[in-house]
Formats: sequence, C-alpha cells, structure tokens
Amino acid sequence: MTNAIDSGLYIVATPIGNLADLSQRAIALLRAADIIAVEDSRVTGKLLNHIGLKKRMRPYHDHSSERDRDDLLAAAQNGVVVLVSDAGTPLISDPGYKLVRAAREAGIAVSTAPGPSAAIAALSISGLPTDRFLFAGFLPSKAKARADVLAELGDVKSTLVFYESGPRLGASLAAMAEVLGNRDAAVARELTKRFEEVVCGGLDELAARYVDVEPKGEIVVVIGPPTEKPVEVGDVDAALREALETLPVSKAAGQVAKRFGLDRSEVYARATAIKSGK
Ligand code: SAM
Repeated sequence: MTNAIDSGLYIVATPIGNLADLSQRAIALLRAADIIAVEDSRVTGKLLNHIGLKKRMRPYHDHSSERDRDDLLAAAQNGVVVLVSDAGTPLISDPGYKLVRAAREAGIAVSTAPGPSAAIAALSISGLPTDRFLFAGFLPSKAKARADVLAELGDVKSTLVFYESGPRLGASLAAMAEVLGNRDAAVARELTKRFEEVVCGGLDELAARYVDVEPKGEIVVVIGPPTEKPVEVGDVDAALREALETLPVSKAAGQVAKRFGLDRSEVYARATAIKSGK
C-alpha cells in the first residue's frame, strides 16, 4: 500500500486480546480514516489511545438505520471510512455485512486490512484437521434450537468451529457430545492473552470436565470431523435390539439408520428380521 490511501470502505481487523497484533496497515488506515465506524466507542477508544490517536467514532450495527448506512456510504465515496468491531475481524459474528453489501451495490470500493480472528486462531492451534472447516458462529441458547442446529451440522464432513461463552460452555459441550458423539475436540480460551489455554480431548471428556466449571473469558470450540469408521453389523444389530425394546420397527430403524449413516430401507429390513426372531 502506498502512503496515499484511496477513498472507500475498509474492513479492518483488530486484535483479539494482544494489542501487539494490530497490523501496520490497520494503523495506517485508522490514521487516515475520515470516519471510524465502531461497535462500541469505549472499546475502540482504548485501541486508538494505544496508538496515540484521537478520532471521532460513529456507532454502526447491522440494525443501524438506512440513514446511518447511507451516511457512511456517502462519506466513503470521497473519503476513507474504516469499519472495525470490538475485536477480531468485522463481519465474523460481528456487524458489517449489510454495509459491505450496500457499498458494493453502490459501486464503492471495498477493501480489507485482514488480521486476527478467533475462529482461525483457534483452528490453527487445535491440532484438528484444517483442510475443510465450517464456521458455525454462536449456537442458539435454547436447548431445542441448539440440538436442531447440531443435528443439522452432524452430517457435515468438516471440522466445526463455534464461538462460546463461559456460562454456556458446559451445556453446549453436553449437547455437542450427545448429538455429534465422542469426536475429537478442543476448547480454546483467551487466545493471545495472558491466560491462553487450549484443552483437547473427546467431546465426552470435555463435557464431563466443564459440567460444573464455568471458565472465565472468551472461548472457541473446535470439533473434528466425523470419523469414517467401518460400520460393524454386530453394532447395528445391538443398536436395533435396544431400540426395538421401546420403539416400533420403523422408528427404531430410522433412528439407527441415522446414527450409523446407513440406508433406511436396509436397516428397516434388518429390524423386521430381528423383530420376527430371524
Ligand atoms: N469478529 C470476532 C473475530 O473475528 O474473532 C468475533 C466476534 S464474536 C462477537 C466474539 C466471540 O469470539 C467470543 O464470544 C469468543 O467466542 C470469540 N473470541 C473473541 N476473542 C477471543 C479470544 N481471545 N479467545 C477465544 N475466543 C475469542
């Protein structure tokens, strides 16, 4: 980047804990900004203070009014508008999507000063496969909605990345273990900060560890992809026998087929055979 900064909208990543992670480009853009759009001016004020900058900030959220958005876009036509969030990369479980979309629609240049994001930081040190991953943000807090989302994600053959908070961690890990099974996982906490910690283990073990513990600080949960274990006929039969004790044949077959990722009609035929004692 040359010293002259073109007008436009700049999406600028900021540290997720360690202020030394603020990039040179981020600093240059913040200095050049005509407007800095922020989530919380107290939080960004501290960052600006750290680099000796005093600037007017404008609050921005995705539920900001059309007029607020239009003001920022008008300013970006002939000036430098920087969007930051409280921490990390804007738009990643943070506001900005509507602003970027509107800027693109209006033909305004949109550029980025990339940098820290908790999801990528956690993934990169989790020891779990990184070739394919799905970022799922925050799970819903209500149990049923959370279980539904997990069930939907259960078949995805990728590492999963979730944002979490200390008070919700225990319940979320329990639901993850129940719906996804005992997959390899990591709980990454307070990344880049003094008490950074990554706890790795199976989901069962992690759920047990955090059942009564409410860890402090900010958390990312990373869960490895489902393992492609060959399905043992004996395991399917045992699961069917157990399910048939309480469920009718079709429900038992449906449940077991889902659990093992098998064809429902084949499992139904097997369930019928077991039921009739064959
Ligand atoms: N835009 C941010 C980013 O790029 O990482 C994320 C914003 S989201 C509102 C905040 C969540 O990110 C926290 O609840 C936590 O799950 C995660 N997070 C942020 N900083 C973190 C850190 N230092 N260590 C672990 N997780 C962090």
